[in-house]
Amino acid sequence: MDAWRAADVPVLPGRGVELRLRNTATGKLTAAATGHKASLYACGITPYDATHIGHAATFTAWDLLVRAWLDAGHEVTYAQNVTDIDDPLLERAERDGDDWWELAVRETERYRRDMEALRVLPPTYLVGAVEALPVINRFAERLAARGALYDLDGDVYFARGADPAFGSLAGPETACGLSLAQLTMLSAERGGDPDRPGKKDPLDAVVWRAERPGEPAWDSHFGRGRPGWHVECAAIATEYLGAAFDVQAGGSDLVFPHHELSASHARVACAPPTPGAGAEGHVFARLYAHSGMVAYQGAKMSKSLGNLVFVSRLRESGVDPMAIRLAIAAHHYRADWEWTDGVLAEAESRLSRWRAATAPASPAAPASPASVVSPASHLAAAPVAATSAGVPAAEAVLQTVRERLAGDLDAPGALAAIDAWADAVLSAPPGSVQPDPVRLIRDTADALLGVAL
Ligand code: ZN
Repeated sequence: MDAWRAADVPVLPGRGVELRLRNTATGKLTAAATGHKASLYACGITPYDATHIGHAATFTAWDLLVRAWLDAGHEVTYAQNVTDIDDPLLERAERDGDDWWELAVRETERYRRDMEALRVLPPTYLVGAVEALPVINRFAERLAARGALYDLDGDVYFARGADPAFGSLAGPETACGLSLAQLTMLSAERGGDPDRPGKKDPLDAVVWRAERPGEPAWDSHFGRGRPGWHVECAAIATEYLGAAFDVQAGGSDLVFPHHELSASHARVACAPPTPGAGAEGHVFARLYAHSGMVAYQGAKMSKSLGNLVFVSRLRESGVDPMAIRLAIAAHHYRADWEWTDGVLAEAESRLSRWRAATAPASPAAPASPASVVSPASHLAAAPVAATSAGVPAAEAVLQTVRERLAGDLDAPGALAAIDAWADAVLSAPPGSVQPDPVRLIRDTADALLGVAL
């Protein structure tokens, strides 16, 4: 399906720093790409509701990743799915007396507009589950050919016992260190059916769900029905990125079972390592990155609680999308945090100061910098070289922003570097900052943070 329009990305002088990310499976900082080509798969939305701040936080995090890669000279291939057939979509359509497909099309379009407004660069491939059904079916047939599937009353399950490496993302031996009991609990909480009688193992996952009365269904090797969620991402990722790629990304609630099972499916379907597999023989992602959860009114944003803050509603109420981006970027992507009016007000204040400092005839606005920037942020930005007027050199600010982002996407550290520059400019005598450094700071914020000033 179509993605959305890409914002222009200014080309910065010099070359970006190689990005390292914390790998969820190992807990270690790891090079995000190992060659000229860099590849990313990010799990996308289920389009039954509008984009909320939790979605925006995760997709802007991966946008920072893509921007850092581009700045470092990589050729980036980015695939993202849209789960436009799944239980939550059908349940919402049923509840509202809506047509499920019209709902999916409408909310996918709203998601595109939100991403465009937030200046999130579009994926190379935005792929809907329905349009990918032939891809998913081919993939599932490979699982069947390897004896990894079994039938349970017409539904087709993946036997996790077919993958000796099952558990290598979240299991007891990983940095997550989850026990079998914990994995089973998470499976039950997140769309799995560990208690269904007749399964060979509680953690086995549905690959093909047989047609139910009143539900949409498609023909397949397994009869009429619709695909499971994990097989959808495994099939789309390996189709568009190859059997091995660099980074699998998503919210931390996708670690298990979704990402574990997607990788497990792919290991079985693509083993033994095919020519497309990585040099060390790995299949699926080399590294797993996960973003934190955003809470609102004291609880994680979720449709069941109804405590959602929608990007589209904020935009309609006049909130600048760049302030939304800055509000998100003020938090490390792996952190869990809470959206509040104060968080938004702080971001709007920061955006005003950055715009005042980079305005053509700056500085003009009165400075009130200390209220927003924390002492820790000042420390993070301290090493930048200063010009004679006390304003950090723009080249040094760019370098600091690059280094902060290259270290596991430390966006708060990057913001602090620009804060220090903006504060100094706003405190300096009018006319003491030349146009070229101002332009470089604007380009830095735009190219690396997606913030147009
Ligand atoms: Zn996924």
